[in-house]
Amino acid sequence: MLKEIYVCATCHTAYPSTPDIWRCPCGGLLKIEWEKPTFSKKEIQNELPGMWRYVKALPFHPQCSVSEEITMGEGYTPLVPLSQEDPHTFVKVDYMMPTLSFKDRGAAVLIAKAKEWGVKKVIADSSGNAGTSIAAYAKRAQIECDIFLGKGTSPKKIAQISAHGANIRMVDGTREDVAKKAKMAVQQEGSFYASHVFNPYFHEGTKTYAYEIWEQLNNIPDTLIIPVGNGTLLLGVYQGFCELLAQGLITDFPKIVAVQAENCAPLAQAFHEQRLEIEATQNKGTIAEGIAIAAPERAKQILQVIKQTNGYIVTANEQEIKEAHTALAAKGFYVEPTTAANYAAYLKHQKTTTQERIVLPLCGAGLKAV
Ligand SMILES: [Zn+2]
Repeated sequence: MLKEIYVCATCHTAYPSTPDIWRCPCGGLLKIEWEKPTFSKKEIQNELPGMWRYVKALPFHPQCSVSEEITMGEGYTPLVPLSQEDPHTFVKVDYMMPTLSFKDRGAAVLIAKAKEWGVKKVIADSSGNAGTSIAAYAKRAQIECDIFLGKGTSPKKIAQISAHGANIRMVDGTREDVAKKAKMAVQQEGSFYASHVFNPYFHEGTKTYAYEIWEQLNNIPDTLIIPVGNGTLLLGVYQGFCELLAQGLITDFPKIVAVQAENCAPLAQAFHEQRLEIEATQNKGTIAEGIAIAAPERAKQILQVIKQTNGYIVTANEQEIKEAHTALAAKGFYVEPTTAANYAAYLKHQKTTTQERIVLPLCGAGLKAV
């Protein structure tokens, strides 16, 4: 029997994992703990769609069929060489997802869990992609959904969220104001907070990115380059590799190189000043809207992960992002500016050897951008 619990990362208090808690009363962030069964390649369920092939590493009871009801085939995306000239660099085409972004990994797990718990309504806030994913999976699970968005959200993402029947609640303010309004609504209405920042089930979904790379490469890469705002992918990936290491399936971690947009780079600033706490930053505006987070809630955790893997943080300016967008399109990949920022980081990365194996995610499709 799977008995998951929530444990506060700050004061270590344990709670039953239930829909009505998303943060410890001490302010600490929650993680999920359960007795993990042995996992190896033999446990991969080849017959299941997408990332659900790793269901035995996910926090669902083996007899639970809720994922079958809501999956749209998300995950197990192609891992292909960037180009013939660069055969050791791979791109993971994570925009090949039902809503065209990697956020479907997290949304599918989070909404499956909400469905298992019998949740009737979810609330989320987003800069666009996470809201789209939550809206799509909530609709599929027949759960009512409100998405809080900022006024600057891409009209195409708003149209997509609206098409999935979610109630759009527009907030005039910063990304932080949008999150604040969503949290107030969660508290006032007693709804489930389907947050990709706070809810650890979202990271259970994004961790499958690590499992897939491990299976597809039959090893780990030397380096992962990941765009970072709230750390949704980075923290999930780190968790995935931690689990693979604990199971003895890998012997080391890949180095994690994170990228931020120069115009909104609180993590890069803290990293370069060797701090684990960020200072209040103003978002000066960037086309890489998916990582434009001035005050990431999980900043300390993200900075610790990068340090622990001997990685670093690089920034990309608006011109570099635009040029990277054009350069990737010239290789056949039409991506969102946030993903282009990641490619700009790759172009700046000094390879340790010509054989260095690097993996980059292509997080969102270019068609979603303004
Ligand atoms: Zn606590």
